[in-house]
Amino acid sequence: MVREWKRTPMAESAKKSIRKGDILIREGERGDSAYILETGSVEILILRDGTLMQIGTRGPGSIIGEMAMIDDKPRTATIRALEDCTVMEISRAEFTHRVESADPIVKMVMRVILARYRDMIGRAQVMRLPAHAAVAVETAENSGELHDLAVGAIKIHNELKTALEKNELVLFYQPIISMRDMKISGFEALMRWKHPEKGLISPGVFIPVAEESGLIVEMSHWALGSACDAVKDLHAAIDPKLCGTHPPFVSVNFSVKDFSKGDFSELIRATLERKGTNPAHIHLEITESLLMESPGPAKVALDKCRQFGTSVSIDDFGTGYSSLSYLHHFPIDTLKIDQTFIRSMGLDLSSKVLVKSIIGLAHSMGIKVIAEGIETREEAALLKEMGCEECQGYWFAKPMPLADALTFVKNWTPPALA
Ligand code: C2E
Ligand code: CA
Ligand code: CA
Repeated sequence: MVREWKRTPMAESAKKSIRKGDILIREGERGDSAYILETGSVEILILRDGTLMQIGTRGPGSIIGEMAMIDDKPRTATIRALEDCTVMEISRAEFTHRVESADPIVKMVMRVILARYRDMIGRAQVMRLPAHAAVAVETAENSGELHDLAVGAIKIHNELKTALEKNELVLFYQPIISMRDMKISGFEALMRWKHPEKGLISPGVFIPVAEESGLIVEMSHWALGSACDAVKDLHAAIDPKLCGTHPPFVSVNFSVKDFSKGDFSELIRATLERKGTNPAHIHLEITESLLMESPGPAKVALDKCRQFGTSVSIDDFGTGYSSLSYLHHFPIDTLKIDQTFIRSMGLDLSSKVLVKSIIGLAHSMGIKVIAEGIETREEAALLKEMGCEECQGYWFAKPMPLADALTFVKNWTPPALA
């Protein structure tokens, strides 16, 4: 008769003892731990036609039942002690915590490995092979796709690090125009990578890698410092008659990672002070999804930033499944309507109604609205009619290097809307 392994007081700790013949893991049951075999040996059994069939053995140092840490799915094999053993238990919660707090590169590689493992097990199941045999399948087929992705990401990460040191990162500036008088309200700073061989690389390529690897924090810090320098240059270049009631601001984009390391508001405050920049001239752009992901820390940090006079804009509004009533809990000055809404305004009436309602609701909460991605005169005219305060898009100007932005502010001629 097969004896079940019972939990003993000792088993409550991470280290457990199992006796010869005990079952540590049973095929078909759900489990949320893996084990490292410290001493002794175990056999791996699978049930075929009502009989337990041994398909392998494991000795000291082996990891057993690791699939449960990856997928909350039934165990794919039974593990029985061949002799008295000691094992160390690793729970899924602990494993997840360790992966999450690991070095960003380790984390990235780990995610890829886990994804490959899932894929490998999935394919083995399709081929009706036991999980352990999947290793052989993987070796034989070796898709390589995820591997290439991981290697590619690590390569970009390493190159980005060098890029930051070698000043290959630059900010482009795209004007934001006031709909009231068509004067320049400010600029959004958008990062580009001037790669020595590949030329200008768009942020869509490198920002996700920088976020994943944690390098974004350093990059954001650099961007803020650069934007502060640009504020000085822009203010010196612009004719006061061509800007609205205030000298132009510069908006800087931030990511969720910027909030997870150190004191975000303190970093902002210290940089503004070091650069001698008036906090009112810098706006912080935070995506709606960032707020949803990390509402507590974001609220605390943004509250502090606003206390010392920096404005907060919610970027890509409408893409993060939040509601305006939810946003009401956050310290927000401006809401940027995502360009997908602007694009669809010309296609259907319901999008127009939606944009109008967003503007109306934002105003009722004292929040200003910027519409992004304006590509036509019609869109600009319609948004003005709807009461949208500011617009940004290719119709006014594409993002440009600082030198061009300085010429732009000198030569700005407000376009006619009708
Ligand atoms: P975003 O913050 O939503 O920036 C607006 C994007 O829309 C920019 O793309 C801009 O070039 C583009 N755009 C502006 N007007 C138009 C238009 O009329 N039509 C179309 N089709 N596109 C328009 P870009 O510069 O490629 O940046 C992409 C995204 O990368 C940004 O989206 C932002 O999420 C991220 N990003 C850029 N710079 C930074 C940065 O310094 N830090 C962080 N964390 N993210 C950044
Ligand atoms: Ca933005
Ligand atoms: Ca946006």
